[in-house]
Amino acid sequence: MSRPSTLDPLFRSLQSIKGVGPQLAALLTRYFGAPEGQEAIALDILMHMPSGVVDRSRQVGIAEAYLGQVVTLLLHIDRHQPPPRGKPQVPHRVFAHDETGEMQLVFFRAQGGWVEKALPVGEQRYVSGKIDFFNGEKQITHPDYVVEVDKFATLPLVEPVYPLTQGLSSKALTKLTRQIIETLPELPEWIPPATLSHFNWPTFGNAMRSVHTPTNPAEAELWAPARMRLAYDEYLAGQLTLQIVRSTMVAARGIARTFTGEITSRVLSTLPFALTAGQEQAIAEIRDDLASSDRMSRLLQGDVGAGKTVVALMAMAAMAESGAQSAMMAPTELLASQHFKTLKPLCDAAGLGCVLLTGKMPAAERRPILAGLASGEITIAVGTHALFQSGVEFKDLGLTVVDEQHRFGVHQRLALSDKGRHTDLLVMTATPIPRTLVLTHFGDMEVSVLREKPKGRQPIDTAVLSIGDYPRVIQRLKTRIEEGAQAFWVCPLVEESEHLDVVSAEDRFAELRKVFGDQVALIHGRMSAAAKQETMQRFSTNEVKLLVATTVIEVGVDVPNASIMIIEHAERFGLAQLHQLRGRVGRGAQRSACLLLYKDPLSETAKARLETIKGTEDGFEIAERDLELRGQGDVLGTRQSGMPGYRLAVPDVHRHLLDYAHDDAKAAFAANPSLTGPDGEALQTLLYLFRKDLAIPLLRAG
Ligand code: ADP
Ligand code: MG
Repeated sequence: MSRPSTLDPLFRSLQSIKGVGPQLAALLTRYFGAPEGQEAIALDILMHMPSGVVDRSRQVGIAEAYLGQVVTLLLHIDRHQPPPRGKPQVPHRVFAHDETGEMQLVFFRAQGGWVEKALPVGEQRYVSGKIDFFNGEKQITHPDYVVEVDKFATLPLVEPVYPLTQGLSSKALTKLTRQIIETLPELPEWIPPATLSHFNWPTFGNAMRSVHTPTNPAEAELWAPARMRLAYDEYLAGQLTLQIVRSTMVAARGIARTFTGEITSRVLSTLPFALTAGQEQAIAEIRDDLASSDRMSRLLQGDVGAGKTVVALMAMAAMAESGAQSAMMAPTELLASQHFKTLKPLCDAAGLGCVLLTGKMPAAERRPILAGLASGEITIAVGTHALFQSGVEFKDLGLTVVDEQHRFGVHQRLALSDKGRHTDLLVMTATPIPRTLVLTHFGDMEVSVLREKPKGRQPIDTAVLSIGDYPRVIQRLKTRIEEGAQAFWVCPLVEESEHLDVVSAEDRFAELRKVFGDQVALIHGRMSAAAKQETMQRFSTNEVKLLVATTVIEVGVDVPNASIMIIEHAERFGLAQLHQLRGRVGRGAQRSACLLLYKDPLSETAKARLETIKGTEDGFEIAERDLELRGQGDVLGTRQSGMPGYRLAVPDVHRHLLDYAHDDAKAAFAANPSLTGPDGEALQTLLYLFRKDLAIPLLRAG
């Protein structure tokens, strides 16, 4: 189905709306963040929700109008006091009264005599605005509305207030919104009648009218039926999209794998430890997926150090038993080679051919590897994402494992699904993702979670210190390093454009060199992959004792002997990032420490955030807290990743509706996977309305 023509009024260009010229259109396009190269459309205005309302319905006498209140008063105009000649900075004052008292209306720089015209002496006018005081007298400065008595009906008693941007006035936006509301088409209903009546929800059109043109303030509240319905609609559109994506991924195109148990048991017997219950369960879940004829699309969540790599290895070993190959993709070469280092000895012991493929590899080295992958002789390939996008041929690629990729969005998953036909997909993430966000961004995937850490881990002592304590920190660090410890010293990434009083990794490195000499090394993102690798190598062989780094070490770096993590300007890092960084220590048997160094002065929120890190090591708890402190966008770094934000739903208030939307989308799609018939077409309309049309071509033909 192509876009239903009923939606045309909402998809018309901004410039076709009265009062919008090229300049305003450009401004709105920027403000609404329209996709690259596209102009915002009428729909974007409709979807721009008010942040609150001004209630002018309070019609009291002057005596009962209090400071800061917005009121509407019926006033007798008594006299005008224009500014004295040559003193334009003095305001024009209008004196007025009603039965209960007296007050003034104040106008700065009023020109052309319009104040006199609008407020004629001896007449009555309705005046609406916010009460303030000056010299103990009540006044309204620049009333929002002045209307004649018989035009009272034109006064909007309840007025929505919109988030604005420079150059966009509330009045202008209100006018545009009104126009769009007036031409709002009747849309087919996609919510079942039973649900509508259960929640007492209005239709989509009426909900939009309530929100944009409320007749009483309660109508537009976030928890009013109108806003609830709209939030649900937005969630439903997102969830339905994920269902469609999921069905494309899994749709009977997988291969039902059978396992001999031979290789997996060999892997198990070479492990120097027993699996945790969580690992056992995740492995069982994955095996069930692989054994089913549906294609697997599973997210493995586990905090740093939770032991995801072993789970992935067991999955790849099971795949090998069924005769197929696996690929493990990491976001950086450093991580890829680290995975390889972990996996290689285990694979060797289990008799699995495992190779590392990097972009830097000379052709002569690459050739036999590519041949081995094409012939099927090599079972497991580890590399970066880029590598697998450049035409590496596998004899039979059965499983793709994607590591550390919360930026791995729906689009990337779809791209992979096209390539590998029946390839199963396991995505691993070390960022604990709160349940709401899992549903939002990974609702198309099944989820396995490793909650407990392997036994024997020592808790990490976390301290919060001012950078003023630098000399003491250095003293202690010196002692610990002499005792054989290794440490990370992390500085925030400083853009050259930032003129901030922030110590860069380079500067800190220079300082620390004076104390630690050759024992300290520097690693940062602008170094070549080879140089980074070499430095990491020197750190992991204990030649370097102190590694100064930017956040390049954030994910995956595994040096068990490192037991001290110092984070400078900790106040500049996100909670999830601090947690990730801290997870780089505490991996060995010895007791570890994390020092969060901040620069004074520290704001209350910043303090609360550092205390959160100090208070717990549970990544899921930290993620939930992060969500509270920062809102949903940043937990996943959605800004960079282009993940969708919500426009109608406010997760703090509407979160519970996401669960309904998830269940409803699942049920609706299961019942009608091609979304045909009146109900199906209504749901397709919903998808268009929320710009989810990327999903529509994926619908299976009737
Ligand atoms: P993640 O990738 O989840 O951050 P890893 O898979 O790298 O964690 O595991 C971290 C460390 O814990 C590795 O050194 C690994 O060998 C070890 N490990 C994994 N599972 C267990 C277990 N069940 N018991 C003890 N140690 C384990
Ligand atoms: Mg890992």
